Amino acid sequence: MAVEAPPSSSSFFSPWPDRLRHSAIVLLVAGLALSVLVALGELSPLRAGVVFALMAAAALVPWRLHHAAISREDRGGTVPVEAPAVAAVVAGMPDPAVLLDRAGRVIHLNAAAAQLAPALRKNELAQFALRSPEIITALREAIATTEPRRATYLDHVPVDRWMELMITPVPVPTAFGGTEKCMLMTFHDQTPLRRVEEMRADFVANASHELRTPLAALSGFIDTLQGPAKDDPKARDRFLAIMHAQATRMARLIDDLLSLSRVELSAHVRPDTLVDLVPIIRQVADGLEPLARERQVVVEINLPETLVMIAGDREELLRLFENLIENALKYGASGGKVIVSLSWATTGEGTPEIRVMVRDFGPGIAPEHLPRLTERFYRVDVGDSRSQGGTGLGLSLVKHILNRHRGRLLIESVPKNGATFTACFPQPKSAHSTQS
Ligand code: ADP
Repeated sequence: MAVEAPPSSSSFFSPWPDRLRHSAIVLLVAGLALSVLVALGELSPLRAGVVFALMAAAALVPWRLHHAAISREDRGGTVPVEAPAVAAVVAGMPDPAVLLDRAGRVIHLNAAAAQLAPALRKNELAQFALRSPEIITALREAIATTEPRRATYLDHVPVDRWMELMITPVPVPTAFGGTEKCMLMTFHDQTPLRRVEEMRADFVANASHELRTPLAALSGFIDTLQGPAKDDPKARDRFLAIMHAQATRMARLIDDLLSLSRVELSAHVRPDTLVDLVPIIRQVADGLEPLARERQVVVEINLPETLVMIAGDREELLRLFENLIENALKYGASGGKVIVSLSWATTGEGTPEIRVMVRDFGPGIAPEHLPRLTERFYRVDVGDSRSQGGTGLGLSLVKHILNRHRGRLLIESVPKNGATFTACFPQPKSAHSTQS
């Protein structure tokens, strides 16, 4: 590991700047040599004086220039860094970047930095522009220790943004051949990561809450059956039925959670097997026949006689239609009728697609809920959903399955006049011929 040697403090010249010290040594040696030559009669004193004056000027002028530049910096001028090359590097950085001198004054900043923090100006102190105490402390520490520091930069306009601020000391070449310790400040946008982290935390909190509710009911009933209802066969039967329903709800929740994570894991892999939608929809409708009978709902199925092929995952498609038709039977039961139909259409961009529509005639959904229905655990009426055995994950699963199939979900509803959920699938080119 390379370690920088500490400056020597024992030398006689040590309080002198390096350049001046070197010049003084050179002049001392030259003076001695010239004196010897004069003493030996090899050089006239006048000539020796002229030679010494020229040498002194040659040695001292660069130091004066350097010294003048440093003084200018101390008085608030610009650090004499190699401006065009450094400015080009800072300007070319993809993230917001600012180069500061040792006092924290802005030497260069790129367009992204100027846009992020418009108060940052060239030749002005960054501390005044970024007034956060955390940033000021980090900057002060980086300058004092010449070690990198991190801080968080929060921006609230026009939207909340979290940026990680890195302050890295960098030696920058100066116009006089040396280097200048500057501070490179870069901003990295952490907003997407934070959002994902928040969503993950919300999801875990919601999932645990949903699981804890039936679990609490189960342990409560177990206590009752072991205690007060021990010898009451009627109460036992009733409680066991409730426990069975709660256990089923937990199992369904776990199933939905697993399905959701499976679909998410394979979200980037589009299914490539061709499957016929018609028998899949029929199988789901047949399976839900008992529920339809129980809710006294007539299910009308309008499907073509032809094959309707799409590139799809059979299991996922069964899950998708099961959720849509079951929701219509549960939440739209009061309408007494559910229509499931398949049609061909074209998108706004003119792309052909296959649409499977599930329409009910129940109470419908108020417009303010429509954009949030596919969020995990979002329910219009939590009590209603729970009493129907719902988990709040069904439509989220539907959306993810459709995303994987490169399809989309359309939701339309007129309150008091039912709801229509339409699953749209892109039509595979090889299946155009089967269209009726
Ligand atoms: P859940 O497990 O609660 O049914 P979903 O994600 O399937 O979860 O549905 C979310 C919510 O959307 C439901 O709780 C319900 O409030 C509403 N919803 C879904 N389908 C319908 C429908 N056909 N009619 C009225 N409301 C519906």
